[in-house]
Amino acid sequence: MPETGQSSHIVHWVDNKRYSGTSGRTAPVTNPATGRVTGEVALAAGEEARAVIESAAAAFPAWRDMSLAKRTAVMFRFRELLNERKDELAALITSEHGKVLSDALGEVTRGQEVVEFACGIPHLLKGGFTENASTGVDAFSTRQPLGTVGIIAPFNFPAMVPMWFFPVAIAAGNTVVLKPSEKDPSAALWIAELWAEAGLPDGVFNVLQGDKEAVDELLTHKAVKAVSFVGSTPIARHVYATGTANGKRVQALGGAKNHALVLPDADLDLAADAMVNAGFGSAGERCMAISAVVAVGGIADELVGKIAERARTLRTGDGTRGCDMGPLVTAAHRDRVASYVDQAEADGATVVVDGRTVRPDGGEDGFWLGPTLLDGVGTGMSCYTDEIFGPVLSVLRVDTYEEGLDLINSNPYGNGTAVFTNDGGAARRFRNEVEVGMVGINVPIPVPMAYYSFGGWKDSLFGDTHAHGTEGVHFFTRGKAVTTRWLDPSHGGLNLGFPQNA
Ligand code: NAD
Repeated sequence: MPETGQSSHIVHWVDNKRYSGTSGRTAPVTNPATGRVTGEVALAAGEEARAVIESAAAAFPAWRDMSLAKRTAVMFRFRELLNERKDELAALITSEHGKVLSDALGEVTRGQEVVEFACGIPHLLKGGFTENASTGVDAFSTRQPLGTVGIIAPFNFPAMVPMWFFPVAIAAGNTVVLKPSEKDPSAALWIAELWAEAGLPDGVFNVLQGDKEAVDELLTHKAVKAVSFVGSTPIARHVYATGTANGKRVQALGGAKNHALVLPDADLDLAADAMVNAGFGSAGERCMAISAVVAVGGIADELVGKIAERARTLRTGDGTRGCDMGPLVTAAHRDRVASYVDQAEADGATVVVDGRTVRPDGGEDGFWLGPTLLDGVGTGMSCYTDEIFGPVLSVLRVDTYEEGLDLINSNPYGNGTAVFTNDGGAARRFRNEVEVGMVGINVPIPVPMAYYSFGGWKDSLFGDTHAHGTEGVHFFTRGKAVTTRWLDPSHGGLNLGFPQNA
């Protein structure tokens, strides 16, 4: 979005209208490439959150009962409008998140794939039917929506992450309250307006702006039947514990530390390209970013050289100027990430490429940190143990495949991983043995397509179901099994035994 110099007031969305709220609490929203405050977002108090949730709950019965044909027609219209206008949404993302425009467009496209998947909801909701399960008795199964569901999103994908959930939730007949990140809240409001234009009835898709207070209400309000959360692991753990203690179905996707295992036979140029793309794309603020490169055998020096050579060619700057990598989301986050580089250096790691000295193509008050490559990283260093969530790639050296696998499996996170090799047998063994939810083979960011499900293992996901795909449909619906018999006088009579087939 071009900056007008005026600060916008970013509000809630309820019943297909903007709602300013009454709490008076707000938080500043900045353009990370200039450091300027571009808006202030409303932060809901409990009372406002309750009002939004209750509107969504009131809209549920009519939406649930609307025919699949009509619901699907709205989904298709939404998909068409999104496809026509996705450049607008991408520009909005870049202006508040900082990622470069091409990356923002990629995010919208991946979200759109879930909308397309959800357009097939009539097929996805089909149950089974058994004729004559018992004499004169038919049985069938059906999946029904839950009611009102909450979606709580992180800052790093303000459009795609909500779109992992709400297309499926809405298509299945639920009503939604989306709580975006307070750091980049405008994309959600833009999406809400698009839904209204697509003909979604009032109250089906709502946006609740806010922080912990809004989240707490979603986790405790009786009308909210399920919560999909994405964010850091400590908050995911809290959301899962509180939501389930309040009787809700919860899927809480947490943080990550994604490793790439580079075997001695790998094509090192391909691997180095992949490390740079996956380590520094979106300034490392992706839950599927590679942050740890595990170099096996004697290849480490050559691999580090190739990664460094490529990393030095990247242009860091304003996402609207055709640069490779944008700023970090806030000044505080930039400072935190830089402090990990300081600490790694103090701990004895070698700073091969130093992003702290970057000369960006952007505003002097932007939140800059260039691509950073650390070599000789040990598993006890904080740059390895913590999720940094910035453009910092750490290289760890091991002697064997087994040592590398053990290192990856010992990490508490299990979101994504990749192996680089030309040996099909080694790749097959790795995908079987690694304890991580999403695995790439010579593919550094193995984000599943919309018709598969997205989710990590261990501390990267709390709950049983992953996002979108069949698991997403199951999360937002519940099964019902129905047994029917139509009047047949021959089956009359009393029988207190447990029903058995006859
Ligand atoms: P975050 O945990 O700070 O915030 C996530 C959401 O929780 C936001 O909507 C925020 O307002 C809310 N929140 C913050 N503090 C809260 C509290 N005390 N109580 C209740 N709610 C609270 O995460 P973030 O910084 O916005 O996003 C980055 C994190 O998200 C990283 O850890 C990243 O790995 C993770 N992430 C994970 C996935 C995945 O698929 N596993 C995808 C994207 C991002």
